[in-house]
Amino acid sequence: MVAYFSEIFYGLISLFQGMAITFKEFIKPPVTVSYPYETLPMCDRFRGHVELIENEDGKANCVVCGLCARACPSGCITLAGVKPEGEKKKVLTKYILDFTRCSLCGSCVESCNFNALEFSKEYNLASRRKEDFIFDLLGRLEDRNR
Ligand code: SF4
Ligand code: SF4
Repeated sequence: MVAYFSEIFYGLISLFQGMAITFKEFIKPPVTVSYPYETLPMCDRFRGHVELIENEDGKANCVVCGLCARACPSGCITLAGVKPEGEKKKVLTKYILDFTRCSLCGSCVESCNFNALEFSKEYNLASRRKEDFIFDLLGRLEDRNR
């Protein structure tokens, strides 16, 4: 008989301990977000695919030196530019990044002496199509300014 009541007693203690923990967690602020409706800002060290940096005029900082393309060990970068008549600097006309081959090593960003490349904070990149990972970075920059 004593064992019977003892079992009920300790069972109830265990039940209330469990309920106390549940209640404590219930009133705590949530640590999760409703992705994809809510997203968190990425930390400074996060490396998304590379992105062109723009100047005050909304144009790419790039001077088409080609160092980034040469520094890339995976041959991800294809770029082109023209030198308008009367101008000293080349103007970027194409900057394509093949992100399917990119290892995010950072050689391109490090090799750029003109503050023209950075890592983006982009992480929403799920797709089944390989073509979706070929980025027209100049087009993206122009879209940002539309
Ligand atoms: S290294 Fe910089 S300035 Fe030179 S082509 Fe690449 S992004 Fe442009
Ligand atoms: S991060 Fe590395 S692999 Fe990716 S484009 Fe730059 S140099 Fe190439």
